[in-house]
Amino acid sequence: MLSADFGNLQRDIEMLNASECDWLHVDVMDGVFVPNISFGQPIVRHIKKHARKPLDVHLMIVDPDRYIADFKAAGADILTVHYEACRHLDRTLHAIRDAEMRCGVVLNPATPVSVLEDTVQICDLVLLMSVNPGFGGQRFIENTYNKIHQLRDLLERKAPQCLIEVDGGVNVGNAPLLFEAGADALVAGNAVFSAADPEETIRQLKR
Ligand code: ZN
Repeated sequence: MLSADFGNLQRDIEMLNASECDWLHVDVMDGVFVPNISFGQPIVRHIKKHARKPLDVHLMIVDPDRYIADFKAAGADILTVHYEACRHLDRTLHAIRDAEMRCGVVLNPATPVSVLEDTVQICDLVLLMSVNPGFGGQRFIENTYNKIHQLRDLLERKAPQCLIEVDGGVNVGNAPLLFEAGADALVAGNAVFSAADPEETIRQLKR
């Protein structure tokens, strides 16, 4: 949603409702954990009002525990928090589950998959950042493929039901390679909203 036209938010959400996308991915940035500020709960609430698909809310904020109930109230169906932003990740993930949302952990490009050895069992999904978070429209980091393989190995041992999601620089060119490497869900922002035909681009990504 970060790449949508916020002056025409409802129009863009209707396009997504009609498209083959599965979730609406919502990037919340606080200007502290990441350099940029995006938007908070009021905008999430507006998105929820029009969306007919689950909201996958990606919190790029420090101490996300403070806002779990707020984002549940705003309409989040999936809530993901950064490993790097949580002091007590196990507690945070359980709090998200207790609030009746699906929960996930996000890893920055510099954070190894091995840090999840003791938390993937609690997760519904793990989100691998394939750019450094904070801005839309960045170039994809190639090491992501290695991390998908490593994560797939870890999940097979510890949490086979957990999904792998990839976020950052995803496009029609690298989507097949990412699915082949073992990704289950891809986040695409710029690739969709800067396309001449966004709905067709989503169709191509899904294919
Ligand atoms: Zn995101």
